[in-house]
Amino acid sequence: MLKMLSKLLFFISEDIAIDLGTANSRVYVRGHGIIITEPSVVAVNKKTGQVLAIGEEAKKMVGRTPGYIVATRPLVSGVVSDFEVTEQMLRYFIEKANRKRFLLNLRPRVIIGIPCGVTEVEKKAVCDAAKNAGARKVFLVEEPMAAALGARLAVQEAGGNFIVDIGGGTTDVAVISLGGIVISKTLKVAGDKLNEDIIQFAQEEYKLLIGERTAEIIKIGIGSAYPLKEKKQMPMRGRNLVTGLPEEILVSDEDIRRAMEKSIKQIVIEVKTAIEETPPELLADIMVSGIQMAGGGSLLRGLSTLIQRETKIPTKIIEDPMTAVVRGAGQIMENLDQLEEVLVETEYLEPPN
Ligand code: ADP
Ligand code: MG
Repeated sequence: MLKMLSKLLFFISEDIAIDLGTANSRVYVRGHGIIITEPSVVAVNKKTGQVLAIGEEAKKMVGRTPGYIVATRPLVSGVVSDFEVTEQMLRYFIEKANRKRFLLNLRPRVIIGIPCGVTEVEKKAVCDAAKNAGARKVFLVEEPMAAALGARLAVQEAGGNFIVDIGGGTTDVAVISLGGIVISKTLKVAGDKLNEDIIQFAQEEYKLLIGERTAEIIKIGIGSAYPLKEKKQMPMRGRNLVTGLPEEILVSDEDIRRAMEKSIKQIVIEVKTAIEETPPELLADIMVSGIQMAGGGSLLRGLSTLIQRETKIPTKIIEDPMTAVVRGAGQIMENLDQLEEVLVETEYLEPPN
């Protein structure tokens, strides 16, 4: 009887997959696809500790609100740093994705992407937060595994798959085979750090104070990891630190490449180190299947070319790299029976059905 009821619930409840990224969060609803994409920002009233806004709305408040209202990112390097805020964020997404069903009081099953190598305590924190936020059942999947599924790689077969996911807070490298993660590495250098590099460069080179948003626009506009065929230039607007007045300076792709050089080198070294640690049999597969890049940071011009040159392994950006994790996690929700083995096992989780 219970089993039948649970089967019935499977058909009518809208199970969801959530990618809580350090920069962006995405939600996939079983049978519908990705229905939410919002920045991972939460606006908090520092005086009362109250959460005022989440996602898009919270991001709009950044820099436009009184000092005691602060926009925080609940995920520092992808790991739950503020339990309460993360729970509210999960609640916001779960309710938004599940609005209709909430009226019927049907709580969804939720699969959440987590970084590799999080501790049992952190896994429990994520599960508890999701349950408190309205999930009936919680499953966890490591983000590189989800990204690989999103890229339609045959993760359950014996061949090796090599994933590099460059997000906002971290660059995650993983080797996957037989439905499990063989090697994983995390580096706290990714898109955000590149923005910081540009801010620092503007300050040191031109005594120009620029904001994070400007830095990101410059990075996406003309940033590159490898010399471009065609030169690019862009005006960089900020405040002159000496005069205190607004100023505009024309910067080139070469300037910006130089600004980000050290961080990009760290990313390349991270990839190379993972290759050195990969068992030779799997490496032989990877030399054929190639390095697969995911995450928004993989879109930086010339980065895949640089990695290919440095590693001598064919490198490609997977299709729609920023949604790979949530699409992969969503795929697990769609085919839980076949993909159950790729889920993270923890002592706190119950079996899927
Ligand atoms: P996360 O999973 O950590 O939330 P995402 O995969 O959503 O991160 O990627 C966000 C990062 O990707 C940001 O740092 C953003 O600046 C960067 N990014 C997005 N598009 C581009 C682009 N075209 N070129 C370079 N960086 C980009
Ligand atoms: Mg991510």
